[in-house]
Amino acid sequence: MKPLERTAPRHAPMDQFAVQDGELVVGGIGLGRLAARVGQTPFYAYDRQLLTRRITELRHALPETVKLHYAMKANPMPALVGHLARLVDGIDVASAGELKVALDAGAAPREISFAGPGKQRAELQQAVAAGILVNVESFREVAELAAIGDQTGCTARVAVRVNPDFELKSSGMKMGGGAKQFGVDAEQVPELLGRIADAELAFEGFHLFAGSQNLRPEAIVDAQSKSFELALRLAESAPSPVRFLNLGGGFGIPYFPGEPQLDLAPIGAALATIAERAAKELPEAQLVLELGRYLVGEAGIYVTRVVDRKVSRGQTFLIADGGLHHHLSASGNFGQVIRKNYPVAIGNRMAAASLEPVSIVGPLCTPLDLLADRMELADARPGDLVVIFQSGAYGFTASPQAFLGHPACIEVLV
Ligand SMILES: *Cc1c(COP(=O)(O)O)cnc(C)c1O
Repeated sequence: MKPLERTAPRHAPMDQFAVQDGELVVGGIGLGRLAARVGQTPFYAYDRQLLTRRITELRHALPETVKLHYAMKANPMPALVGHLARLVDGIDVASAGELKVALDAGAAPREISFAGPGKQRAELQQAVAAGILVNVESFREVAELAAIGDQTGCTARVAVRVNPDFELKSSGMKMGGGAKQFGVDAEQVPELLGRIADAELAFEGFHLFAGSQNLRPEAIVDAQSKSFELALRLAESAPSPVRFLNLGGGFGIPYFPGEPQLDLAPIGAALATIAERAAKELPEAQLVLELGRYLVGEAGIYVTRVVDRKVSRGQTFLIADGGLHHHLSASGNFGQVIRKNYPVAIGNRMAAASLEPVSIVGPLCTPLDLLADRMELADARPGDLVVIFQSGAYGFTASPQAFLGHPACIEVLV
């Protein structure tokens, strides 16, 4: 096996969790004890205090007037959404299923917005009945909402999701610019605004979301300032003043070797400038950021137990009871072009003196079921607990749990 080079880039330190007596501590509980409390492996654990701390830090770094929304597709666990609903200013949902979770969590309907391509009639009816804001993404949606208003006497609250004429540069996932299924092309928005006026829907503003998982503050600043300029231009065709301006988000977290923590300072400074301009040029507008993984990703771990250890032609494999069926992104199969390792540790051997190069695989009969590819980790044995960090977003619900029929994974909020 090829030795790892000393100069290889390293993962950002995962020091958000304490270590006590060689054991990782989650929500104040040692990992072994937590596993016993949960009663099974594999599981996901999310740390309440870390969720709270993240929001506090963000509020510190961003202007007070900018509202924070949680894009709950990152992690829709009801208890976690309930915790966050008390800390953020609004929840963004992407289906009627998510809408139910947000309402059950106690989020105020006024502060819930609904985006997503292909919203169906029944979902739109639920949204109107709930009194939430619908980010319309097509001419059909406007027509459906008008018909729902005629039938029920309830006026739909709408914002227009704009597919901008620029991209969020160096994003993990681009969701605006060029030809996209999301939103309505900026060029077509004036016509759509005319339809909204004709249908007498309650127009509230604009939603722009250029992309996600970005670690370059200058790219985020650039997209936000272009989004603001675009909104100013489009506001000229709006039937009423803009009251809601969602500038997107895209704040990334470090997953792979060499990736840094996102520097919030330049983003906060640029947003302060935008907020000052908005106060003059769009005086009724509430500025909103919608963040998913940045709020929850670093507060979560995935825990799986070593079942077997074997050596194949000089390479050591740890075989775990969990794998890609629970954590597709850590296996490298959720949108990554080149597979890279997530930050991983042996959670009950955090103070180990010696490390060894190992690969950690899951129990599935496919070579894709790889959680760590030749990483330097503490010497581990069956029964030890493998921890995958940065797992609070796009884990549990973004994985094909039924694939191969293994037992289900569970989630706890600690
Ligand atoms: C997915 C999504 C988000 C959240 O993205 P993160 O990378 O998790 O922050 C926000 N807004 C919209 C419209 C999305 O589709």
